[in-house]
Amino acid sequence: MAEWVTSRIRTIPDFPKAGVQFRDITTLLADPLGFRKAVDELVQRYVGVTIDKVVGIEARGFILGGAVAHQLAAGFVPVRKAGKLPHTTISEDYELEYGTGRLELHDDAIGSGDLVLLVDDLIATGGTAEAAVKLIRATGGTVVAACFVIDLPDLGGSRRIRDMDVPVVTLCEYPGG
Ligand code: AMP
Repeated sequence: MAEWVTSRIRTIPDFPKAGVQFRDITTLLADPLGFRKAVDELVQRYVGVTIDKVVGIEARGFILGGAVAHQLAAGFVPVRKAGKLPHTTISEDYELEYGTGRLELHDDAIGSGDLVLLVDDLIATGGTAEAAVKLIRATGGTVVAACFVIDLPDLGGSRRIRDMDVPVVTLCEYPGG
């Protein structure tokens, strides 16, 4: 499966800045079977598990998370970059492999006790996912697991999230950054 996925992911060197190997999933998403199989792989682990909400991280996490939520008959909740969500939000600052930012979540989007699955395309340093886990927990939600198509294990993010007692599922990995 991992090789099947990586064969459909394109690597763009030095994007968005020098030294970054950008793992571009648009080629995976554009492949009808690729999109379906990637979503099915993530979903099949949670068949029979109660998931109330799927949280997707802007922007590629929306595409994957929306499809996963639909398949699991769960609600979908966006975590967005600062200033995009219209209602009252809670926020968390985070650091990226290339830059810093702030993530926001509507303060009423997740109910206390909701079981939540976190979805994004890729985990690198884990700063983004850690901020999302903190936001979900601040609302009283429980993060059942975090899923990503791609892991960059050498950057330590998946270990960082597992250290927060969140199981991590990834479909493929790339050594290095
Ligand atoms: P991090 O917070 O370091 O785990 O970075 C993860 C977030 O940044 C995800 O939302 C990814 O979409 C994006 N990202 C970080 N590094 C890369 C990369 N090398 N290729 C594609 N996306 C990346």
